[in-house]
Amino acid sequence: MIDLRSDTLTTPTPAMRRAMAEAEVGDDVYGEDPTVTLLEERVADLLGHEAALFMPTGSMSNVLAVRSVVGVGEEVLCEARAHIARAELGAHGAYTGLTMRTWSHPLGHVDLDAVRSMHAPNMGPFFVRTAAFSVENTHNFAGGTVLPLAQLRDLKEYAVGVGAAVHLDGARLWNAHVATGTPLAEYGACADVLSVCLSKGLGAPVGSLMVGSADAVAEARVWRKRMGGGMRQVGVLAAAGLHALDHHVERLADDHAHARLLAEAAGVDPAGVETNIVVLERSDAASYVERAAAAGVRLSTVGPTTVRMVTHLGVTWADAEQAAAALATL
Ligand SMILES: *Cc1c(COP(=O)(O)O)cnc(C)c1O
Repeated sequence: MIDLRSDTLTTPTPAMRRAMAEAEVGDDVYGEDPTVTLLEERVADLLGHEAALFMPTGSMSNVLAVRSVVGVGEEVLCEARAHIARAELGAHGAYTGLTMRTWSHPLGHVDLDAVRSMHAPNMGPFFVRTAAFSVENTHNFAGGTVLPLAQLRDLKEYAVGVGAAVHLDGARLWNAHVATGTPLAEYGACADVLSVCLSKGLGAPVGSLMVGSADAVAEARVWRKRMGGGMRQVGVLAAAGLHALDHHVERLADDHAHARLLAEAAGVDPAGVETNIVVLERSDAASYVERAAAAGVRLSTVGPTTVRMVTHLGVTWADAEQAAAALATL
């Protein structure tokens, strides 16, 4: 069975497991895990920010990142299918007490006209204040689309002008970086606070990082502990992340090529496949997934008429060819 349900399904490679086994560790709640510290410094540097904080999940990372720029009773604006709006089970409302409004874009891009018309300045006791704009790059539910750097720059410029912050959900920012050649720090420069995942295409078993100013990260460290996310000898997991940064970033280009191959076989225009996610609109989505499984390929539905396939570290070129041949028969 070739499993294309998600790029979270990867398991650590033998070399990654060795790096984990050999990691130097300490109690990270005491700030004494050298491997975690190394990972945090490295990721902060890559994104051109002052600091980073290792998190158990991308959801916690997003919650604490958004919380660092949006207060109780304030709002964040984002795209309608954003992970923060759709897939974090209301965490931002439940924990932070913020509200959200959304704009819609078929590719998950920024609609700056919509952002401008929705933005609400501080009007004291009359209206909810827009404290931040949140964007996702690549955009998961829009099909792994890359947010054009120029849009991100325009959004940041607008945000600075109105005194709001930009949050970037970069769970798959690595894919955007590899697909476009844009340095990570250029993306980093367009956001006040970011989240990046190690447990998606990079193939680490666990882990994400919140990235931002030293002050935001210091405060998030307190909140992470408050939420039960203070981790001890967690360098074994950070070592997997460091290994992934050394060995699994450039190879994301292979995942992107595999995704285009699969798209073509499934009747999707490969020109629209920008990274490692292929979205297939079909009225018979559930039955298509069943028939694909019978042909040896596991896919998932992400809506009543939407099938998703995701390539990753666990899928070789031979696997992709085999899956493509199976999908072509459907
Ligand atoms: C996976 C993902 C996250 C984080 O998910 P966790 O499962 O909590 O690690 C955040 N944003 C996007 C866009 C994602 O795809």
